[in-house]
Amino acid sequence: MRPRYLTKSRYKLGLECPTKLYYTGKSEYANQNLEDTFLLTLADGGFQVGELAKCYFPGGYDIKTLDYDEALRQTNDLLKKDQVIIYEAAIRFEALFIRVDILIKNKNHIELVEVKAKSVDTDSEEAFLNKSRSITSSWRPYLEDVAFQKHVIRCAFPECTVSAYLMMANKNALCPKDELNQKFKITKDKNGRKGVSVSQTLSEEDLAEQILVKVKVDASCDLIYSEEISVGPNTMSFAEHVNLLANYYVRDEKIVSEPSTGCANCEFRATDQEREVGLKSGFHECWKERLNWTDEDFKDSTMFEIWNFRKKGQCLDEGRIKLSDICKEDISPKEDENLGISSSTRQWLQVTKAQSHDATHWIDSENLYREMSAWVYPLHFIDFETSMVAIPFNKGRRPYEGIAFQFSHHVVQKDGQIEHCGQYLNTAPGVFPNYDFLRNLKKELDRDQGSIFRYAAHENTYLNMIYRQLREDQVDIPDREELCNFIRTITTPVKKSKEWVAGPRNMIDMCELVKRYYYDPATKGSNSIKQVLPAILNSSRFLQEKYANPIYGADGGIPSLNYRNWKWIEQVEGKVLDPYKLLPNMFQDISEKDFAVLSDSDELRDGGAALTAYARMQFEEMSEYERTEIEKALLKYCELDTLAMVMIYEGWKDLVYPK
Ligand code: SF4
Repeated sequence: MRPRYLTKSRYKLGLECPTKLYYTGKSEYANQNLEDTFLLTLADGGFQVGELAKCYFPGGYDIKTLDYDEALRQTNDLLKKDQVIIYEAAIRFEALFIRVDILIKNKNHIELVEVKAKSVDTDSEEAFLNKSRSITSSWRPYLEDVAFQKHVIRCAFPECTVSAYLMMANKNALCPKDELNQKFKITKDKNGRKGVSVSQTLSEEDLAEQILVKVKVDASCDLIYSEEISVGPNTMSFAEHVNLLANYYVRDEKIVSEPSTGCANCEFRATDQEREVGLKSGFHECWKERLNWTDEDFKDSTMFEIWNFRKKGQCLDEGRIKLSDICKEDISPKEDENLGISSSTRQWLQVTKAQSHDATHWIDSENLYREMSAWVYPLHFIDFETSMVAIPFNKGRRPYEGIAFQFSHHVVQKDGQIEHCGQYLNTAPGVFPNYDFLRNLKKELDRDQGSIFRYAAHENTYLNMIYRQLREDQVDIPDREELCNFIRTITTPVKKSKEWVAGPRNMIDMCELVKRYYYDPATKGSNSIKQVLPAILNSSRFLQEKYANPIYGADGGIPSLNYRNWKWIEQVEGKVLDPYKLLPNMFQDISEKDFAVLSDSDELRDGGAALTAYARMQFEEMSEYERTEIEKALLKYCELDTLAMVMIYEGWKDLVYPK
């Protein structure tokens, strides 16, 4: 049995909610986080950044073993030296155990360097503080992690002084050489354990200009140590809190917490199916214990589902958790000057529909019709898949620059004819695809002056970003002006710009149209296309009848670049299945559960599965067969993203156009 130590990740979990420490690591409890944390680290560039950081501190000893005792033994042996650099050093003090990314010992002084897959534009810790000199909420988790490590080292080696650093990608740094990115590859050993291998060709020149920056965070640690922490009715110091978490964890005893707004996304909530097969649900246990809820209570909708609701904390404190407990004063619905429905009116609509058990959709036909009548045919529906790559592809590029590697394009003609007419995918390792992506997109959209549709802000944000890249790029780009011009015509600048205002063919955001003109209770307040699509397919007889036949990709049917004779409507017990669930899994070696988490991950945002696929194709060694299979799946998924927009358009048209 592995010893029950409070590690960095468990400490982090205990800070989120101390009760989670009881559920973690127990196979009898459902856990909605990724089983395979490797995927997350791969997708956010953690492996590459971690390995590159080691290269900036050469001559260190790598403690590779995962065995606690052996890692401690090797570390303690090395720490007998006066001067030493250790990667993954293992340090234990009583029940606290950490692995330090990079530890540098110089006589009685220890530097701890925590490497993070994140970017900053400064080497000063001022960036982590807000105006009131407290730590910003976005940086707090990283700094608490370092503060915990510094605390453990100081306890374990009281004779030493300790300095703490965060090491992250420097947004302002320019990559010194081409192909640096491809010198850090993911490898698998004979036991299937994955790691990063650094190419033999990595040279001094590659490392000459550092693209990571080391930020001293001792003052932030001191701020954290000076804070009083409330646990139930008690307050305690940092050290007392750490001991409390460790003691409960060691004894495997539950710290019962008051329900909080964090419960809404608790990973220890089992789905109905998981509970049916006997998995325990930490969430259900907590709420039964603290709120005396019964199994019946969990069937009711809660105010956590209200879209963009700011008073969740207040209602929770007052014990008004179910949607039936919410009253008009909580929402104060007010109209605004724009067409359609305001956000507060929409929230109230959601509440009243739930309270009156009204499952029918709501649509503002008059105003939506007015919008739709202004659209110019043919209509173009586009969707991008993107990624951020930690170590740049080329000389002169910056860390964590956005990469646009895929798009899909559907066209709808005035007579209702639909075609999946274009797509782009470039996953070639080491190739910066953005300009090629843009040229291909331009070719697709330049054929006419029809309206262009996106879903949410992503496509606009990325085109703005490519615009900046084009403007700043020092290399010769013959069609630079033409490309910049194209971006200006179809976007809105994300920041105030002297160069352009919203372009004449500015993309229309369908998500905004959903928010103003359409609400379906089946979406449970979410406006994500992944919720809106199944909802409209379930309510629209028109869509059900049209797509119940295998017309998609069929001769004489809807032309498709990736599907043949596909039927989108499959019903089980009278309910239309989510079309995304009909697609083949993107990865053969990843569990269905992990794939579902990746596809829906908040941490990776929408498109988590696609960006993970991109990261794997960049950095993992894979056969041509595997590569082709993943590419085929990526093309299918992205095509469904734009088809989903087309289906929503068709569903609306059926509802609002006079018959
Ligand atoms: S349900 Fe709430 S109280 Fe229970 S572990 Fe999850 S976050 Fe903590």
